[in-house]
Amino acid sequence: MEYLDSLNEPQREGVVNTEGPTMLIAGAGSGKTRVLTYRIAYLIQNKGVDPFNILALTFTNKAAKEMRDRIESVVGTEARNLWMGTFHSVFARILRAEADKLGYPSNFTIYDADDSKSLVKTIVKELNLDDKVYKPNVVFNRISGAKNRLISWREYLSNPIYQADDESNMKPELGKIYKIYSERCFKAGAMDFDDLLFNTNVLFKEHTDVLNKYQQRFHFVMVDEFQDTNISQYLITKRLAAVRQNICVVGDDAQSIYAFRGADIQNILNFEKDYPDLRVIKLEQNYRSTKTIVNAANSVIFKNKAQLKKNVWTDNDEGSLIEVLRANSDNEEGKLVASAIFEDKMQHQVKNSDIAILYRTNSQSRAMEEALRRMNIKYKIVGGLSFYARKEIKDIMAYMRFAINTNDEQSFRRIINYPKRGIGDTSVDKMVVAANDNNIPLWEVLTNINAILPGRAANAVTDFVTMIKRFQIEIGKKDAFEAATEIAKRSGLLRDLYEDKTVEGLNRYENVQELLNAVKEFVDDPEKEDKSLGAFLQEVALLTGVDNDKDDDNDKVTLMTIHMAKGLEFKNVYIVGMEEDLFPSQMMLSSRADLEEERRLFYVAITRAEHKLVLSYALSRYRFGRLKNCEPSRFIDEIDPSFIKVNERSRPTESVNTGAGYAKSFISGMKKTTASQPIKRKSDYKPSPDFEPSDTSNLQSGMKVEHPKFGYGMVSEIDESGANRKAKVNFDDFGEKTLLLSFAKLKIH
Ligand code: ATP
Ligand code: MG
Repeated sequence: MEYLDSLNEPQREGVVNTEGPTMLIAGAGSGKTRVLTYRIAYLIQNKGVDPFNILALTFTNKAAKEMRDRIESVVGTEARNLWMGTFHSVFARILRAEADKLGYPSNFTIYDADDSKSLVKTIVKELNLDDKVYKPNVVFNRISGAKNRLISWREYLSNPIYQADDESNMKPELGKIYKIYSERCFKAGAMDFDDLLFNTNVLFKEHTDVLNKYQQRFHFVMVDEFQDTNISQYLITKRLAAVRQNICVVGDDAQSIYAFRGADIQNILNFEKDYPDLRVIKLEQNYRSTKTIVNAANSVIFKNKAQLKKNVWTDNDEGSLIEVLRANSDNEEGKLVASAIFEDKMQHQVKNSDIAILYRTNSQSRAMEEALRRMNIKYKIVGGLSFYARKEIKDIMAYMRFAINTNDEQSFRRIINYPKRGIGDTSVDKMVVAANDNNIPLWEVLTNINAILPGRAANAVTDFVTMIKRFQIEIGKKDAFEAATEIAKRSGLLRDLYEDKTVEGLNRYENVQELLNAVKEFVDDPEKEDKSLGAFLQEVALLTGVDNDKDDDNDKVTLMTIHMAKGLEFKNVYIVGMEEDLFPSQMMLSSRADLEEERRLFYVAITRAEHKLVLSYALSRYRFGRLKNCEPSRFIDEIDPSFIKVNERSRPTESVNTGAGYAKSFISGMKKTTASQPIKRKSDYKPSPDFEPSDTSNLQSGMKVEHPKFGYGMVSEIDESGANRKAKVNFDDFGEKTLLLSFAKLKIH
């Protein structure tokens, strides 16, 4: 079998021993997913197993698709009959077939998180509870947590432990809300995401005939990323495999990063107890990364106490040292990373799609996105919306836009009743129709609202109008940052997000703070003459006007959180924002276990890289509207220093603006190089006394040049687009610089 030849001995053992329980716990990049893939191919091709009898559970739909494609390349289209997908997608399918057993219609609706939360909201309101105490997100997460631990509302209500817990949290009615929520979902013929697992458990537990049927059907059950399954998922697979015991799970305890969602590393330990004749396979050879990266990752994870011992090694090349980029600010960090990527592309012919930028939280994408856009590097954001497309950012910007243009109907619709001020959809429609039908400005309708709406709603609109007028005054006399902060606060939006203490709520709150930081940086930028909010909005509109999504060119740099990157691999990986409080995240740190989870997350990030790994951090970052000094993350120190090259490439690059601001930025950029850059590159270059600048009108990329200050370098790009012709030059000692050709003194060699 030729595909079996591309496996090492323990991998082959995992592939060909298809009967009985098997657990493969092995380090990152050691071929766990490859073993699962080949095992399935082997079952079909060598053992003649019908794909219909195989169930493979993956963590993401993307992973399932990739695996299916690979299997198809070995066994052909037969692979299409495989049951393969995420827990949620596979069991939703089974629940559809068996819904009547649980009293659900087979066309039951699946509620997404938004649907669920608005149902929670309605219930809280109906019970006359304070929705500031019973925030939909908080309530929903509590319900979700209970379901993922297989606690039904009946058990929840009858067990005094939960009641006591809720009382101590000042939310004694949670159990009641859980009950009503479940009943309402049931009545509406709807299941939420957690129900898909919860109800599958109920189905298998209470309907043994159904369980038997699926036990007969799935002769082989497989689970990838086993370390991140929760107890609900674990029980489902255990039940399914109970008769034949042909279950194979693969995972890496060092990559368990979903404890905050109820994933339980105990599952790995339980597995050994649940299956006494378990075959345990260890894989230790890493095929993904260079020696440097593998050893660096080992040196980090070694610091965790709660870890199964593994000795991951690789036969791959030594590779280059891990680079650490140090920037003065988050914007400069973006520029450094973008220029390094540009260099990967120009000098090493790395494709965009072989590069990933990983960060701890979604809000960090902004500085990176802006820098990449400026350098015209295509990128995509995986598993998250691009910063300016996120709901909370759109909401707050809608306030700003509407205050500036009171006829902007889309912004109006977004904010008129958010945060809630008791103006219903019918009223909103009436106002918009009145404006459109009579061909009068929306604002005129709003300021004469008594003509079309009755008392209470009219009063709410009048309050809204007063608030917007106040914003207009603020915008007129204050700078963009002060005005934006005022809007965030007085609109109630910031408070609304702040009171939501769930992880997602905190993320959204941080995103809005991050937007305010962007406004602050805009105001502090000496090159911006117009510091009004209007000018800021225009800048953002121009920046985001480039529509990345429409072109189907797939060669893009990937931006994503580390959580999303699990199981993936890229040639070059940049881990950005390596700062204390950011990574490890301050929000998540309250115990040693939390720190260990953050460290596992760092381990996951490092081990995504094949050839090149770069870590970056900023010495200052705008957080909560203030410039905050940052310290490099302790995680950088935890990497054995022999694998690291610090600051070798840190250098500021000039910001490339178009038009008049450019010359100024060029000059201030020059100053930065000498004044504020803490680590200066050594350069022995001295211009010869007869240095004579050349005529640069024929300068082209690829030419070698000399600069009186930066020394020798190679032109990488000529930009003719703006009023001023610019050249990007990679200097041997100073890295990349963008020079305005009408100013720069260059000698062509
Ligand atoms: P992770 O823990 O990140 O999920 P993994 O253990 O699932 O990693 P794989 O993704 O299966 O590892 O494999 C890592 C890389 O090594 C892949 O590119 C895979 O094709 C390659 N690889 C695995 N085993 C071999 C082998 N025996 N020979 C050559 N390449 C291999
Ligand atoms: Mg994998």
